[in-house]
Parts: sequence; structure tokens; C-alpha cells
Amino acid sequence: MDEHEGGTIIPAIQLGVRRAWRGIEFGTREWWREYRRFIHELPVPGEAWLEPERVQAGEEVYLKLSFRVGARGIDRYGHIAVETPFRTLQPLAPDTVLRSRTPYLSVSCTDPRSHLDVTCSDGIVDILVQAYPLEEGEIVTVHFADPLGNPIRMPEQSLRYPFPVALDVDNSGRYRRIASFPVLEVTGGYPRCLYVVAPSAVQPGEPFRVRALALDGFDGNPSPGYSGHVRVLCTDPLAQVPCEAEISDNYLALSGVVLRTPGVHTITLLDEHNGLIGQSPPIGVDFFPEGWRAYFGDIHGHNEHCDGRGTVDEYYLWARDVRILDFCALTNHVEGAKRLPVEDFWRLDIAKANDYNSPGNFVAFVGFEWGGWTVWGDKCVYYLEGDGPYFPANEPVADTPGKLFARLESRDAIVVPHHTKYGGRTVWDEHDPRWEPVVEIYSIWGSSECYGEHSVQAAWERGYRLGVIAGSDDHTGHPGTPPGGLACILAGELTREALFYALESRRCYGTTGARILLDFRVNGVPVGGVVRNTETVEVYVRVAGTAPIEKVEILRDSEVVYSADGDGREVTLRWREVRGRGRYYYVRVAQADGHLAWSSPIWIE
Ligand SMILES: [Zn+2]
Ligand SMILES: [Zn+2]
Repeated sequence: MDEHEGGTIIPAIQLGVRRAWRGIEFGTREWWREYRRFIHELPVPGEAWLEPERVQAGEEVYLKLSFRVGARGIDRYGHIAVETPFRTLQPLAPDTVLRSRTPYLSVSCTDPRSHLDVTCSDGIVDILVQAYPLEEGEIVTVHFADPLGNPIRMPEQSLRYPFPVALDVDNSGRYRRIASFPVLEVTGGYPRCLYVVAPSAVQPGEPFRVRALALDGFDGNPSPGYSGHVRVLCTDPLAQVPCEAEISDNYLALSGVVLRTPGVHTITLLDEHNGLIGQSPPIGVDFFPEGWRAYFGDIHGHNEHCDGRGTVDEYYLWARDVRILDFCALTNHVEGAKRLPVEDFWRLDIAKANDYNSPGNFVAFVGFEWGGWTVWGDKCVYYLEGDGPYFPANEPVADTPGKLFARLESRDAIVVPHHTKYGGRTVWDEHDPRWEPVVEIYSIWGSSECYGEHSVQAAWERGYRLGVIAGSDDHTGHPGTPPGGLACILAGELTREALFYALESRRCYGTTGARILLDFRVNGVPVGGVVRNTETVEVYVRVAGTAPIEKVEILRDSEVVYSADGDGREVTLRWREVRGRGRYYYVRVAQADGHLAWSSPIWIE
């Protein structure tokens, strides 16, 4: 490189780098394209490590990443780039005005002559080697802290965070990775509460399993190493349940628990020594006349294969063993330009869904997300079988919902529009009841229930028969975690087939994450169904909350026609009217703790 060019070229390179390394969180394609370019090439020499390697969620830590220059060395104007989980990093310069809560970093080198320029963009640190080339064995260290001594705050979500390091050794603009990335293991913090999960609906005398673990106060991360002696309290005087139990290695599975008294019960665990308590969601004994179970799960989330974090294993293990969901699906974006080529991660996503699918224990569906903020709105596609193709919304094969539906022909598939009011908003002109039986009414984006042409109510007002579920749209490796929502599916057994057919018949509802039990019927027809040839409309609602119920509302054609204040955690309502012009009824439940539930509608014909 010519001396004279330096002054003008360097800023241009840095500008280019900044553009190329735009954050994955913002969904830009450029960064992934750059990353893909080098990820399949042979790695370049170099070694990186973190100190410390294991930290607690939310803790403030003096974190250091060191990089030892490998055999090739790094030329003048070469680059070292590091991806970090800290999105708003600021490099420290002599004129930096420090602001509170901003994560800062500075860079040092064992070669005292070195001059390193640092830029940060959405968590990617790019170090430009100025003045002197770096020779083999020199160590460049990134210090995450500011000069006032404020260390950096660790992520609140426990997970293994890779810090990929890539080098442009000769200022060619080609970044290539080093062979192995350091990984920061963020574990849960101190236990704050016990998380207790039991089946939501059981038959009298039927043995079941209660599971529990201790969670911290951040994102509900499991507290590693917690052990405790707990008292077990149950509201059913005829229950067959041990009085005491041991939680060891932060896991408890009590098998053979039996409830006998019809009604709604809870099981509470109390660790008096450590001051921890946790109560199960309501367990309905003989709650649904058909003997249905209420299965809770989350079928909308992403991992590091697209714009989320964590491996597929981390995703499913969190769903199954931490949130103790009954079912789950990973729905990665398939619009290309990801860390891995889509065809590669799609095969892996399918294989893992099939590995984790265990009928009777935990159901995992094969699915993907179609869209990515399209003009038509995003939708997730699920297959009943453990296999199927993916269809990107940015390719002519499936760039409209109509084309997508046509591609699904001959398959057992369900398409679920989501966050219909946010981001890629749903255009309801393109709806096909054959493929879209339900809609996601709530996720971390908020509620899409009412207001405006993209809302779920707008779809119902058009006459569409859409049931509702809720999900998370999690990108943090923590599916099924508040503030994400949960879908509840009413089915006879926990299998792909039973859940899939229940979704097709709209026998489901959505909540903001609480395992609220809800039975809603009109003239005896259960949720999602159609009532025909009737003179009167008789509504029956039975709710069991996870907290005191504030109110239960019955809506006719999206207008509240009856509202009942709650009195405790259970509400049973019977309400009737002469049949008018109303086309559909649904129920909305609000708890005193802010949690909500929405039933699928029941239609009148
Ligand atoms: Zn989406
Ligand atoms: Zn999504």
C-alpha cells in the first residue's frame, strides 16, 4: 500500500467495514453476506481467549478478550474483527464523553509501537492496524470497561455467547475467521423463586409428574447448582403427593402425583431455608368434559441460524427443560444470506426437531418463517410430517402468500400469520382458510388483537374463521419465556398429530405467557367451533387463573357485550341472549397481574 493513499483510504475502509458489519439484530443482509464469504474458507492462523470465560447473568464484569497474532502476521491496514453480544459498544478515545450505562471498550497491544484504531458497530468491534504491522506472537487485548472503572454489564439471558474473530490480514476486504472462537458462558444468577410446572388438566386418580427448578431474578434463568429441601403443599385434601422433596442440581421431578377431587388445584413448593417459594399453574381435575388436556407451548422463535442467538440444542433444551413446555418449534427465517447457507441449516433444523420430538413428553414441529417484514406480513409454516421444503419470500417461487399456499399443496401444513400489526404487517386480502386456521394474537411485539386494518379483529370482521394462539418470536435462545406469549392447545394426547389437528380445528387459545386455564363454549360447542341453526346463544366460560382474575369479557363481533369482575382465581360464567346479527363470540381474560388470555372465537351460522 502506498504511503500517500493511506490518509484517504483508511477512513473509506472503515466506512466500508462499518457498513459490511451491520448488526444482525437489524436484519441487514450485508453483514451476513460478508460473514458467509469467509466462514467457508480455510481459517487463518491466530488464537483468541476470554477472561473470565464464565460469568453470571446481569453481573458487572471486567471482561477481556485477547488475540495472539498467528504465523501470517497482520499487515499494516489489516483488520481484526470481533463479534460481541454487546450491541451498543462505544470505543474509548481521548475525547470521549462518558455516558452512564454505555458499554465501553479500549484496545491495547504488547507491541508498544502499535497504533490501533477501533470502530464499533452493533456489537462488532473492528480494529484497524495502523502504523506498524503486527508480528506473530503479539497480543492484542480488548478491555471491556471505561476509565472510571465501570465494568461492562453481562447479558441477562443465560446462554453460551460465541465471540467470533475474523481477520483481514492484508487489507483486501476479505475477512476470514480464526479456527476456534472463544465462548462466554453466561449462567443464571442467585435463585429468586421456584418454578413449578404440572400438567394443566388431568383426570381424577391419574398419576402425573410435577417438575420444578429455581430461577433467578433476571430472565428466569435457571440458578446453577441450586439444591434445597422443599415442603410440598397441595390444595386437594385427597391428593397423593409427598410432603417433602429434595431439589438437587436444580431439578426436581416428582412422579406418581395423583389428584382426586374434581376442581382446580395447585401444588406449592416451599424452601424455607433459602426463602424460596413457587406455585404451579392451576391444575384442572376433570376440567374439560371431553377429557382434553391443555398443552402449553411456543411455536415461534429463532436461533443463531438466522438473526437469533444460541444453538438449536440450546433452543429446545430451554423449551423442554427450563420452561417445561409441552411443545415447541424453531422457525428460522429462510430468506437467505444467513450465517450458514439456508439449505444447510434447514437440514439441521429438521433433524433436531425430529430428535427432540418425543410423543407423550415433548412435541417439536418442523417449521420455518416465511417473510421477514414483507409487504404481505410474516407467517410461520409448520409441517405435520418431520420433513418438508422451505420457501423463501424473496424468491419468485413463493413471493406472495398465494404462491406459498400453492407450493404447500399436497402437504399437511399449517400457516400462521404473526405480529399482524407490527413490522411486516399482515395484508388480510391474501388469506386462504385451508392453510391459515389460526393467527398469533400476541408475542414480544405486543397484542395484535384490535385497532386497524392489520389487526386480528379486522380479519374476523372480514368473516375469516381464524383461531388464536400466542408465541414469543424469541431471538435470545429463550423460547416460551415472558414477555413472550404461550399457545394453549386442547387435545387428547401430546403428539404431533393431535396438536396439529387441534390447531386445524382452532381448538386453542393464546396467553401473554401465564398458563391460564380457559374453557369457552357456545351452546355446548367448544372453542373454535361453529354453532348452527340456533335461536338463542348460550355462552359458558370457565377460567382458572395463575393470579386473581380482574375481569372476564365476552365479545360479540369484537364488541364487549358482557363483562364480569373476578373474585379470586376462578370464574364461571353463564350468559345468554337471543340470537341477533352476531357472527362470532370470543372471550378475553385479564388477570390482576397484567396477564391476558384470548380464546379463539366460536362462530354462529
Ligand atoms: Zn416475523
Ligand atoms: Zn419471527
